[in-house]
Amino acid sequence: MEKKLSPKERMAIQRQAMPEQNATARSQNFKEVNLGFDEQLALLEAERCIQCKDPKCVNGCPVRVNIPRFISFIAEGDLAGAAQSLIGDNALPSVTGRVCPQETQCEVECIRGVKSKPVAIGYLERFVADWALQHRNGTKPAPVPATGKKVAVVGAGPAGLTAAGELAKQGHAVTVFEALHQPGGVLVYGIPEFRLPKQIVDMEVQRLRDAGVTIECNVVVGRTYTLPELRAQFDAIFIANGAGLPVFMGVPGENLKGVYSANEYLTRVNLMAAYEFPSADTPVLVGKRVVVVGGGNVAMDSVRTAKRLGAEVASIVYRRTRKEMPARVEEIHHAEQEGVNFEFLVAPSRSWATRRNGSLA
Ligand SMILES: Cc1cc2nc3c(=O)[nH]c(=O)nc-3n(C[C@H](O)[C@H](O)[C@H](O)COP(=O)(O)OP(=O)(O)OC[C@H]3O[C@@H](n4cnc5c(N)ncnc54)[C@H](O)[C@@H]3O)c2cc1C
Ligand code: SF4
Repeated sequence: MEKKLSPKERMAIQRQAMPEQNATARSQNFKEVNLGFDEQLALLEAERCIQCKDPKCVNGCPVRVNIPRFISFIAEGDLAGAAQSLIGDNALPSVTGRVCPQETQCEVECIRGVKSKPVAIGYLERFVADWALQHRNGTKPAPVPATGKKVAVVGAGPAGLTAAGELAKQGHAVTVFEALHQPGGVLVYGIPEFRLPKQIVDMEVQRLRDAGVTIECNVVVGRTYTLPELRAQFDAIFIANGAGLPVFMGVPGENLKGVYSANEYLTRVNLMAAYEFPSADTPVLVGKRVVVVGGGNVAMDSVRTAKRLGAEVASIVYRRTRKEMPARVEEIHHAEQEGVNFEFLVAPSRSWATRRNGSLA
């Protein structure tokens, strides 16, 4: 921005839309749907922030990112400053800028939302964080003196990685133990590429490694090492093993061929590249008519994955109404654009396959 805008001019700027891949094209590929702001869009959107003295947006952020500060750096064109500020507050900003439910956290609190639309905080966060990934040299944190304390973290999902990053910032020596062959937890085995590219997760993880965090994969704590063994070697242990086991509905037919938990289905596709079977080791059943039970982010990811794998009909059935769906608004909107069907106030009493075969009355 060459000239400083007056408050009236700022208030007149409309919220900038996220550029995205065309819906028809993207429903047949796994490439990222949202393409990200360019610098011009980011500068314009940053001008919408009125730099509140009591910024309510920060109260809405679970990790209390200093939102007006990083946005003011963007508005001044100081992207390195914006990156330093954001990374100082948040260990995984390229991830949270993509998958955090901003509309119910920071953005719902934004004062600009009272008369117009809230500042696109998530889109700005993603813009700055991605800029930082591309400009690593300018955003390296200053070294901190070592405390001499050692901390073990169990699990390299977002909780474990964030804790590791924050502990490393304090000067502690951190080792993360991860059961799977790759760090990231749900970020790599659950959330699909079209929402969160693995390369982004890898780059965020690399930044943590560069900050001194050690990550050991293929280590199942409890089997490879016991907790008492770790306790003997470390001053503290943070357990961040997630909630990776699926909960089934308890209806007949759940164990039939072709019925997957979302957890298994997404892991096969995301982490094991099942769509490339037989060149990848893990197969997945590709249904022509796929129904997904549920209304959260996991359901949206599953149904949109099924569509991309070639389902002719991909439907969501959800026991409540649309307004109660826990999925992010953007994910529901994207699923609709991609041709996913929605049925509300419907809950399965048994699997469709058992009904068709007549094996259960
Ligand atoms: C498909 C899907 C989509 C989602 N979408 C969103 C979204 O859009 N926005 C949002 O805010 N949230 C979303 N969530 C929820 C979010 O991903 C979780 O809240 C978050 O991943 C929890 O992080 P975590 O680190 O606690 O657990 P996890 O991500 O599950 O990580 C736990 C890690 O611990 C490892 N581990 C477990 N046991 C051991 C052991 N004994 N030894 C060593 N390692 C172990 C696991 O392998 C795993 O890597 C989604 C979840 C899913 C499943
Ligand atoms: S509430 Fe909105 S306008 Fe105010 S500081 Fe936060 S992002 Fe900016």
